[in-house]
Parts: sequence; structure tokens; C-alpha cells
Amino acid sequence: MHATASRIAIWPRTGLVLSVGLLLGMALQLQQASLLPAGIYALFVLLALVLYALVAIKKRADAGSQVTVLLAAAAFAWGLTGLRALLFVSQALNPALEGRDVLVTGVVADMPQVTEAGLRLRLATEAAELDGHAVQVPALLDVGWYTSAYNAQAQVPELQRPPPDLRAGQRWRLQLRLKAPHGSVNPHGFDYELYLWEQGVQATGYVRATASAPPPQMLGQTWTAPVALARQWVRERIQAHVADARSAGLLAALVVGDQRAIDRNDWDVFRATGVSHLVSISGTHITMFAWLAVGVVGWLWRGSARLCGWWPAPQAALLGGVALAWGYALFSGWGVPAQRTCVMLATVAVLRLSGARWPWPWVWLLTAVVVLLWDPWAMLQAGFWLSFVAVGVLFASSIAMDLRAAPAEAAGASAAKDSQLRLVLRRGVLTVVHLLREQWVVTLALAPLGLLLFGQVSLIGLVANALAIPWVTLVLTPLAMAGVVWPELWTAASGAMALLYAGLDGLAAWPWSSWSAPVPPLAMGVAGVLGGVLLVLPMPWAVRSAGVPLLWLAVLWRPALPAPGEFELLAADIGQGNAVLVQTAHHALLFDTGPRYSLESDAGNRVLLPLLKALDVRLDTVVLSHRDMDHVGGAAAVLMQQPQAALLSSLEPQHALQQLRHSERCEAGQQWEWDGVAFEVLQPQAGAYEGQPAPKPNALSCVLRISNGRQTVLLAGDIEAAQERQMLADPVTAAKLRADVLLVPHHGSKTSSTPEFLQAVQAQHALVQAGYRNRYGHPAAAVVGRYQDLRIHLVLSPRCGAARWRSAEPQNVACMREDERHYWRHDVP
Ligand SMILES: [Zn+2]
Repeated sequence: MHATASRIAIWPRTGLVLSVGLLLGMALQLQQASLLPAGIYALFVLLALVLYALVAIKKRADAGSQVTVLLAAAAFAWGLTGLRALLFVSQALNPALEGRDVLVTGVVADMPQVTEAGLRLRLATEAAELDGHAVQVPALLDVGWYTSAYNAQAQVPELQRPPPDLRAGQRWRLQLRLKAPHGSVNPHGFDYELYLWEQGVQATGYVRATASAPPPQMLGQTWTAPVALARQWVRERIQAHVADARSAGLLAALVVGDQRAIDRNDWDVFRATGVSHLVSISGTHITMFAWLAVGVVGWLWRGSARLCGWWPAPQAALLGGVALAWGYALFSGWGVPAQRTCVMLATVAVLRLSGARWPWPWVWLLTAVVVLLWDPWAMLQAGFWLSFVAVGVLFASSIAMDLRAAPAEAAGASAAKDSQLRLVLRRGVLTVVHLLREQWVVTLALAPLGLLLFGQVSLIGLVANALAIPWVTLVLTPLAMAGVVWPELWTAASGAMALLYAGLDGLAAWPWSSWSAPVPPLAMGVAGVLGGVLLVLPMPWAVRSAGVPLLWLAVLWRPALPAPGEFELLAADIGQGNAVLVQTAHHALLFDTGPRYSLESDAGNRVLLPLLKALDVRLDTVVLSHRDMDHVGGAAAVLMQQPQAALLSSLEPQHALQQLRHSERCEAGQQWEWDGVAFEVLQPQAGAYEGQPAPKPNALSCVLRISNGRQTVLLAGDIEAAQERQMLADPVTAAKLRADVLLVPHHGSKTSSTPEFLQAVQAQHALVQAGYRNRYGHPAAAVVGRYQDLRIHLVLSPRCGAARWRSAEPQNVACMREDERHYWRHDVP
């Protein structure tokens, strides 16, 4: 006890202050909207070192020197993180190369991903040239190689076809069209630009075979990516041995980390039951795997007296378990979340093996410092916090278990009369119970964190995880891994998988399977998480119960809604398409649902559902202006999650979405009022549907007018010049066109926004929802000029991100990309 106390006394004094200082410095640097000159960061690093040296020379531990240490550590971390960011930014893609045909030589750095459109690859560049002159391109690129069917600009279809035998480690020379990483920026949305920043990817692009350029050419196989090459070989082996696509997909995901192999419907089931972290090789999955491996290695080790005599079982178990987790993480793709978790686990293991009996909060804190010094930007990732809490809870509860288990083990030793077999069995059962209890504690502790990060707690998830975590980590993953050596085991794994699917399908069908709440502000959410952690800590119930009010605070929080008679717009950043959320005091409407991005992802499941959940919005009506994919791409996902929402659209009766929700046809003259705000459809005329020949989808675009008598908004879909003229021709409709805010027709295409129409609308603000460097060239320069001539404030979604406008404050359009500037975000030229 004394030894423990003295060790505690040595580390926390300076160690605690240093750690807090380092975390503080990194956190402050991450708040910066843009980076400062290198000299300033370097100055802070130097200053920090001098300060620290002064304190170290004095060898005093008074309050004054503690504060100095704190400041020095913070300044050091702040400066260092800034310098690292500057170094990274200095290798960014030169904007002058965007949209040009660049001839790039590079090595395929990872297993290529198969998509519906072709291949996606990570290319480590070696050289590049533009028009015969060498140019600098970033070290790592994300490249799509699409068949001509998915590539409108394909000139030479036969060269455009990705080769079937493309492998990790191959060196290629390819003509690429590159652009800076650009993602959508939405409230509570996924930060794609930060994600690529952490991956080290500084440009995305696609292969573009042209008649004038040298064709794509394989220059040879290198051995720079041996693990990726081995993973690719295993993936092919799985595909060859397992006939059932569903099983093969999950096996590929579990063994080699190929998540694209999983079917979209299965993803929906995994998400609904809260177990997707198990198949996406997340930090929590690696943590669980490590902890179960520790348990199993320990159990095996204790079975041999000789091994125990050689090295104590707890140490061997810890080292063995963590080493297995590293191996697994490496083979399953070595993704950033897995790397981070491995560093975390290694820190815990090193500290415990070194014999330091520090209290677990110190160990936990030090773990955070090590991981964040290695990758400061992890602090902004949900996955980091999830695995950090998981590691912390396991660590805390296992120390409590160690203490409690000590007398029990002594009792076991005295009962030497028991047969060896019974002892082994009892120890096995105890181990399993212990492991199950721990994973249950983690699941429980992660629930409030899930609420804070995703605005959702899956009730079924608690049950599903209790069953799926041991099943996937103890049975499925080992079988799947062992199948690499002996493929027959994959058949057994498929059987185990069928059981899992049966269980999850059943659970997902329960009506109250998940409970969502609005995402609270950070401080309130942190209080809620602390409450959740407090509740599961091994402490007296009097202390634990203090967690309840904290948790309650976060759960009861609700976002502010417009006052009666007022309304708000949120034009989501969904790329090339339309999606605008309209809210009144007690009602909500979604105008269009954005585009589809690929077979498995669309604006609905990527952007709109997380947004609606985080804001706790229950839609009364979904309007689908017309049938084009950039407007209905996310509709199925949204309608599925919002069963109460009515559908108003110009979709034909045979359209597939009609199966999901019967749609009322939008016709000019329809109107209703919500909370003192009037809604009216201005277009199309009822007769337009019967036109011969059948009208183009754009011609049927619903146009919605929203007004509270003082402010008016016009949402125009993809109407074209002809529809604009039609509305102007009817004096009653023309009188209703004047609006404060206009959702620019057809994303700013030159076929719309006629000068006469803009004159009639007289908008103050005009919102363009279009993709960054989209292939249609929206908005057209001529159209932008028309808006500028009339001094209309034009808001472009690639530059603005999600745009918010409120009738109570009609002068302002808030742009999320500007209001929440970060230096890792794409600075749109
Ligand atoms: Zn469109």
C-alpha cells in the first residue's frame, strides 16, 4: 500500500499537470479557424522549452512552478500541433491542377474497393506531369476508376474499364482528374474533410482515359504493401470458397476489413440494432476483441503450471491479448480508428506491465495524451471518444474486479481437493461471466455517449450487443480468421453467421427498437456522459446515484423552435441536388431529399437522417419536386424513418416510391396553414400532367411558396424558362412570386432564372444547391451574372455548406462553412 502511495505521489504531481497542459494546448489549436505563420508556432515551442527548463533547474514544486509547467506544456502542444498542420497543408493540391488532366505515376497503397461503378483505390504518388512538365501532387490520393457507364466524360470506353486484376502494391501510370477533398458541411454531419485529413489524403479524383494521353499502364508489381496484398488474396479466397454472398460479405468485413462487401440491407439491420461497430472494425470492436483475447489468453495460461511459474498469468494475458489485437487490427485494414485504439491499448499494457500501480484515472489520462500527441485531430472524432470510454470503463472495472477476485482465488487455492477438471471448468465459467459482465458495463456506459454523438440510443442495441459482442468476437471472428488457413471453417462461420442474422433480423423488427433524442450542446452532453460513467463505476450507490440528474439534464434538452407565425429554412449541404428543411412552431416540411451517391449511400442516410435525428424533427410532409435522382435520391431512407410524413410530389403513379408512401400530386392552388405560416403550391398546373407528349420531369417540378405575411420564400425545384414564363403569364400567380428568399431554379442552370422571372421575384437572397466542381457546370456563369446585376445576394452551397435563414431575422443567411471555420476544411477558391 505504501509503495503504491509513493508511486502515485511521484507521477500525478508533474505528470498530471503536464498531461492537462498538453491536452489543453492541442484542444486550443484545434479551435483555430485558420493557421498562423510557422514562426509564431515555432516561437511558442521554443518558449515552452525554455520555461520548462527554468522550472526543472529550480527543482521546486510550489504552486507557481506548477502553473508554469501547465503553461509550458500547453504552449508546446499548441505550437507543435500548429507546425504539424502547416507541414501537412504545404503538401496540398495546387488549385491550378484542379480539373486538369494530370499524368500520375504511383503505387496502389491498399486493397482496391469494388463499387457498383468500378474501383476505388488509394494511390501513393511518385511523380506527376502536366502537359509534359513535372508537377507536384499530394503524396496520397483517393482515386475512382469508373467504367464509362458511370463516367459521362469517358472518351475511350475500352480504356476506361478498370482492370480485373488490379492489386495492392502495383505501380501504375494513370491520367487523373484531381480536386481538393471537398465534403458536405452540415449541423451534426460527418466531417469528410477532417476524415481525409486524418487519413493523409489531400486530393480525390478519377481515372480519365483520353485518346490523346498514354493509356493507363501497369508498370510492375512492388512489395511496398505486403499486408494489403495478403488481405486481397484472402478476400479472393473467401469469394472463391463461400458461395452465399451475404456470408462472404460479412466474412470479408470481419477478416480483411472490407466493409463494402456487406449488403446495404444488412447495414440497415446492423445500424438499427446498434452493432455496426462490430463489423466496421471500429475502435470499440478492437477494444472488445483485445479484452476478450486477454481473458482467453489468461485462461489458457493459468491452465499450465509451468507457464505460470515462468511468467505470471495476468501479465502474459495482457501482453498476449494486446498483441493479438494489434495483429487483428493490422490485418483488418489498419484503419485510423484501429491504429488509434492499438496505441491506446499498448499504452495501458506498458503501464501495467511496468508495475506502476497508478490509479486508473491517471492511466486513462496518460493514454489520451499518448494517442492525441500521435494524432491530435482524433479529439474531434466520435470513434476516438467511444473507444476511449470503452478502454477506460474496462480498465476501471477490471481493477475493481482484480481486487474483488483476490480473496476468491485464495479460496480456490485452498480447495485443493477439487479435481483438476472441475477447477478448469469453474475457471472457464468464471472467465466467461467476467467477460460478459465487462462488455455489458461498456455497452451501458457508451449509451449516453451515443446520445451525445449521434442523438440516438438503441434500446435493442443493448440487448443485441449483449448477444452479438461475445458471438462475433468469441465465435465468428476466430472462425473467420482460422478459415484463412483452413477454408472449411468458413462454412462453420457461415452457420454461426446465419444465427446472428436471424437474431438481429428479429430484433430490428421490434417497433421500439431505437430511441432518439436531439443532440444536446457540448457542455450538457458532457455532463450526461459523466453521469452515465458515474452510474456504472464500482462505487457506493449513494455516489453513483448522482449520475442520474446529470444524465437527465442531457436527455431532456430540446432545441429552440421558431415562434408562432415565424419559420426557418435549413438548406442542407448535400452536393448536387436539392434538400431544404422548413420548420414552423410545431410543424416541419422537407423539400426534396438530395441525390444518391452510390448503391449504398445517398443524401438521406448520409446527411438528412442524422440531421433530422439530431434536431429531433418529426416531418409532417415530404415534398418531392420531381422524379430526378438529385431530388429523390434520399427519399426512401427519409420516408422509411419518418412513417408519419405525408408525401406531396409530381411522381407518376407507377413510381417505386409510391409503394413506400402513397403520394398526393402537387397542383397549383393547393394551400394549407401551419402555426400562422401559409404554404401554397404555385406550379405545376393540374393540366400539365396530361400534356402530350408526356412532359419532361423538370417541367412538372413543384414550386412551393411559404409566407407569414411579412417574409416569403420560394422553393423552385428544377423549373425551366418555360415554367417561369407560365407563372409570369398568369397575373394571380405572378403577383405571388415576390419573395425574400429564392431557392435558385435548377441549381443555377442556364436554362432557368430568366431575367423576367428574377425581376418578378426581387429576392434578397438566392440559394444555389449544387455540387463542388459538378460536371454540369452549375451554376452557370451567365446566371450568376444575372443575379449579380440585380444585386441579389447569391449563396452557393459548395462555399457556404448548410445555409440557415430565419423569418425573424430575414437580413441574414448563416453559412455553416463560414461560421464554423476550421483550418482542415477546404478553402473553396
Ligand atoms: Zn436537379
